Amino acid sequence: MEVFYTIFFWVIGSTLASFYCVIATRLPEGKSIVKPRSHCMHCHHELSWYELIPVFSYLFLRGKCRVCQKKIPFFCFLAEIITGTLFASSYLYFGFSYEFYVSLFLISLLILIFISDFLYMIILDSPLVITGIAVFFLKWRFYNLDTALSSLVDGAILFFFMLVVAFLGKILFKREALGGGDIKLSFIIGMTVGAPYGFMVLVLSTFLALPYATFSLLTNTSHEVPYGPFLISALCIVFLYYDKFSYILNLFT
Ligand SMILES: [Zn+2]
Repeated sequence: MEVFYTIFFWVIGSTLASFYCVIATRLPEGKSIVKPRSHCMHCHHELSWYELIPVFSYLFLRGKCRVCQKKIPFFCFLAEIITGTLFASSYLYFGFSYEFYVSLFLISLLILIFISDFLYMIILDSPLVITGIAVFFLKWRFYNLDTALSSLVDGAILFFFMLVVAFLGKILFKREALGGGDIKLSFIIGMTVGAPYGFMVLVLSTFLALPYATFSLLTNTSHEVPYGPFLISALCIVFLYYDKFSYILNLFT
């Protein structure tokens, strides 16, 4: 049965990822996610079923459109493989537990934020809202209503902390240091792992962002660095290695 579920969640993950590619590339441009149906970005021919099979269509078509021969975005293919693999590994690691269900939402958020924040410097609201609601009900279902309600307080603590940081950053550096999306994402971080671990996520995310920020400061003239991908990556790492981080947290408390 374990093999069945591993394959099942791989298929679910990779299928959802091709949907996430549509969401993360259409919504920031103000386009509908249902119409028009999936099509080639270059010649606009509508894709038939065999061009829509996650991962395999890309391999079968050798990464090119069947009609115009232009390249199909590689990042979608990559997102499909990564999401499928993360979904399946998450099942193998956590089994059917609270952690597993939450991880499915976090992985989805990870993929969506990587695409939309790197391409458009935008973190979409709807995936954040859906994740927030899901985490609330999962905490309620697997723990109790008190736990679910107190997670909202943790979310609010992180949210207001980041709001203050953004405000101070604006005064000190005279420019937008944190985007609204990063601040909203902080709410989800606090909700999911609680405020103390949430602050560890923030610290870890700055370490993760540092090499990229330095690199882009040296090479890029725009100086705009998306922070969302590093925040959500740090959240996934802390969520995955919760016990390791609890050891670090105990050293300080
Ligand atoms: Zn085409």
